[in-house]
This record gives sequence, structure tokens and C-alpha cells, in this order.
Amino acid sequence: MSNEINSSNFIRNIIIEDLDSGKHNKIITRFPPEPNGYLHIGHAKSIVLNSGLAEEFKGKFNLRFDDTNPTKEDTEYVESIKEDVKWLGGNWDEIFFASNYFDTMYEKAILLIKKGLAYVCDLTSEEMREYRGTLTEPGKESPYRNRTVEENLDLLERMRKGEFKDGEKVLRAKIDMASPNINFRDPIIYRIAHAEHHNTKDKWCIYPMYDFAHPIEDAIEGITHSICTLEFEDHRPLYDWIVKECEMENVPRQIEFARLNMTNTVMSKRKLKQLVDEGIVDGWDDPRMPTISGLRRRGYTPESIRNFCNAIGVAKSNSLVDSQMLEYFIREDLQLKASSAMAVMKPLKLVITNYPEGETEMLEIENNAKDESKGKRLVPFSRELYIEQEDFMEVPVKKYFRLFPGNEVRLKGAYFVKCTDVIKNENGEVVEIHCTYDPETKSGSGFKGRKVKATIHWVDAKAAKSAEFRLFEPLILDDVEENEGKHFLEQINPNSLKVLQGFIEPTAVENAKSQDKFQFIRNGFFTVDSKYTTDEKLVFNRIVSLKSSFRL
Ligand code: ATP
Ligand code: MG
Repeated sequence: MSNEINSSNFIRNIIIEDLDSGKHNKIITRFPPEPNGYLHIGHAKSIVLNSGLAEEFKGKFNLRFDDTNPTKEDTEYVESIKEDVKWLGGNWDEIFFASNYFDTMYEKAILLIKKGLAYVCDLTSEEMREYRGTLTEPGKESPYRNRTVEENLDLLERMRKGEFKDGEKVLRAKIDMASPNINFRDPIIYRIAHAEHHNTKDKWCIYPMYDFAHPIEDAIEGITHSICTLEFEDHRPLYDWIVKECEMENVPRQIEFARLNMTNTVMSKRKLKQLVDEGIVDGWDDPRMPTISGLRRRGYTPESIRNFCNAIGVAKSNSLVDSQMLEYFIREDLQLKASSAMAVMKPLKLVITNYPEGETEMLEIENNAKDESKGKRLVPFSRELYIEQEDFMEVPVKKYFRLFPGNEVRLKGAYFVKCTDVIKNENGEVVEIHCTYDPETKSGSGFKGRKVKATIHWVDAKAAKSAEFRLFEPLILDDVEENEGKHFLEQINPNSLKVLQGFIEPTAVENAKSQDKFQFIRNGFFTVDSKYTTDEKLVFNRIVSLKSSFRL
């Protein structure tokens, strides 16, 4: 992955120090998703950071599925995560599953029991909550805390064999019920769950908890820098305790950074799953979703996402990033990559009454105004065209320079046309406009006779292909004051999707395939939708509009 993490960040500095001091001669990082949903843009930040550091310091980067919770995990998620990480350019050196370490984890649990550092507890979860105490009050010791080593070994073994029901017993670390750090108050390290696991199937009915499993996973893989988000800061002492007391050979170091939060965006797999399950979106890859697969379908490029992740940087305190910043980076990237074309999204028929009937000429138009090397294409032009409804006004407002009766404009890449007539239906709506053209004014002919104040785009009515255009607004309205404090499902933008049926010039999209990127003049950057496009009809997603007031 070509990352430009040139800007100094505190994690990078730690790594430099560790390499300079000889603490490590090679770093290993990892991205450890739980396969309980699709990845989102927040995960991209972690992938770009971890893989970028490994690449910069010639270390290794692992993809590890943190699959210790059988009830929520699924192979569908495993596959989607692999695809998304690969697509982003997060080239992993090795791929691991935490569930392949269950034997080692179980042995470590036995080791803790033997050292008098773990016990089987029969308190209900409610009782356990009561015993835990609060931030200001110490907890109370469980009555099961002083079971003998033999009894604990026997009970854990029987838990593993399936003799108890879910929730009947747990294994807890025996640390300190009075610790000011609540994570130290005898945290649960194993629980019973009679559920089939996507990888280990029915081999286990007890599963390790995150706080116990994660440090062991990191240590087994020789992870040197275990980068996670800020909410785990208070868990770090426990992380270190597990590594030490489980007598792990490698000692990884946990480093926390601020998670990415964005305006107008929900950033949690649980909430995103709810949007999918309740049919508010058409799947995890709905182009309005902040998932990697959604952004891909929307038309984002991996480069734009990586550039965004590098630009937001790595910090130690939580903040909110303006979602327009992500749009800025895709615009930058597509400026050069997308070829331009003319598409009309809200068509209005324009008839050139003095243009010969039945004749079509091919006009040469450049593919990318910013890049000549992209060449030119031939665009058919004839007597009947479509233009945008908004490019005509029967009664023009002030400073309106586009078409109105008596006014002349340039048709992009073609001729000047002057509006002579307006045709209406029985409801008085404009259905067609009539113009005359001036053959002298052909684009590229060097005509200097007179000037017009506007250029409008068009497509040839006969040759054009019909197409569907899907325009998006943010799915979540969170910047409106009245929405504050509301549940996210109450903040859904009812106008987040607008579907228009229009036309597109034929040549530019002749061999268009899913994911191809276009700049439709004036209308924005678009990509061919991978889900709804058929052999008969191209469906385009608007990636982003052409302009924004947002500045970096
Ligand atoms: P979510 O809350 O969305 O379910 P998670 O943290 O539970 O996310 P994991 O699959 O456990 O999801 O995350 C894998 C990795 O991605 C973790 O190292 C986590 O810290 C990181 N990560 C998750 N969300 C973000 C975010 N918003 N910004 C940066 N990193 C993130
Ligand atoms: Mg999680």
C-alpha cells in the first residue's frame, strides 16, 4: 500500500524509539476485526494505520479475525472483510483466526487457576454487577472466590464438557475487588455459550472474553505494537497483567488512538446492522452506508479513502470529522481519473427546427478537460435533443443566462441555439422547446461573430441511451439542532435517495461496466452501479457533486 504517513504521529514515534533502542528489530502490527458485520470507514482508518506502519518500517501486518463470540459471527462477514481489506490495499502478510488459539487460551486459563489467579464463580450476572462496586465504591468479593485449585480445575473442565447451562458459571481472574480500576475487579475470562462457532463448530461450549483473549492473540503472533481505540485505555493494565501472568513469551504493547467519528454518519456495526435488518437501506453495501463495501459501490476509490485516512491523522483525543472531508478526497482523485460525458437527468425535449430532418453529425468532444491525453470522442448530434429542465425558464429570473424565449446559448461542443417557441401540454406545462441553430457557430470553427453567456449540455434524443441516476444525501441528519439526543433511527433523512430517469450520450458509455467512473458535466461524479445495472439499462450512482464550499 502506498501510504504517505509522513506526518509524524505519536505511534510512529514510539515505533522509531523501539527500533532505535533495539527493543525490537522488526515490528508486527495487526488489524483484528470481529466478523460480526461489514467493515466501515472507521475500520479503514485502523487498516491504513496498521498496514502503513508495517510497510513504512519494513515489518509485518496481519489480518486477524477476533472471532471469540460465536453467536454474532458469520463466514459471510469473514469473506466480506477479506475482500474489503484487500480492496483498500491492506496487503496482509498472514491471516489468522483467534478461534484457532482456543486450545492455548484454555491451557492459559488452567495455568491461571494453578497459580491461584482464577476461579469459577456461580454468581448470576445481576449479582456480579452488584458485587462489582462503582467508580467511587470498592467491589465485594464473590463467595466463590476462595474455591481450591482442585475444585476450580474440576469445574472448568466440567464447564468445557458442557455440564452447565449458559450463564450458570463463569471463570474469573482473581485480581483485586477493591482496585480503583474496575477492569481489575475479577474480570470474567471465560463464559459458557452453547452455540455453534463458524470455525470451531461444536468443539467448544465455553468461550474466552475479549480482555483475556486479545492479549493472548497478540502475544502468540508476536505483535509488537497492538494498536486499538481509546476506550481500551483503561483495559491496558489488565492486558499487561494477562500477558505477564499467562507467561507469554512475546510481550506486545497496547497503544490507543482516537476512533474516527464523522458527521452525518453512524459508525458502529451494531447500528449499521440495524439499518440493514430493518430494510432502511438495501444491504451493507448500500451506497449511502459508510461501510467500505458501500463506499466502493458508491464509487469511492481505495486511494481516496487512504488519502483521507492519512490526512485525518492519528490523535489521542476523540473528535468529529466533517464528512465533507471524505468527499473532498474523492473529488480530488476523480478529477483526473474520471472521463467526462453528457447526461441529462431531468430531460426536456429541444427541437432545432432549422436542422435538416433525418441527419446526424458526429461532433468531436474532449474526454477530460484537464487531461488532453485522455483523447476525444465522437458524439452524435441531430435535430432533436434533450436538455436539463433547469436549463430552460419560460420567464427568466434575474441573472439567468441559460435558455429562455429569445435567448441564445451554446450547446456544449456543438452550436449556438436560440429559443423560438415553447410547446405546452393541456396542463400548461412546458413539454418541448423549439430553437433555431446557427451553422456558423460550430465549436472549434473559430467563430467570433458574437458571444453567448451560457453553455448547456445535451444529449441526442434518438441516439441517447436511457439511464437511471441515483442521487444521495446523507443518511443521517445529525447536524440539525432539533435532532440532538434523538435515537439514530429517528434521524434518518427521508430524502437520502432520489432516483431520476434520464438519458446519456451513447459513445462515452459504450462499454461501460460496473464501477467505471464518469464526470457528468455539471451533474457530478458518477459510477456504474454494480447491483441494479442490467444489460438493458445503466444505473448510475452519484459519488459526489462537482463542487463544495468545503476547504481543507
Ligand atoms: P464497532 O463499534 O463499529 O462494532 P468495533 O471496534 O467493535 O467496531 P472491531 O471489529 O472490534 O469493531 O474492530 C476492529 C479494529 O478496528 C479494532 O482494532 C478497532 O479499534 C478498530 N476500529 C473500529 N472502529 C473504529 C473507528 N471508528 N476508528 C478507528 N478504528 C476503529
Ligand atoms: Mg466490537
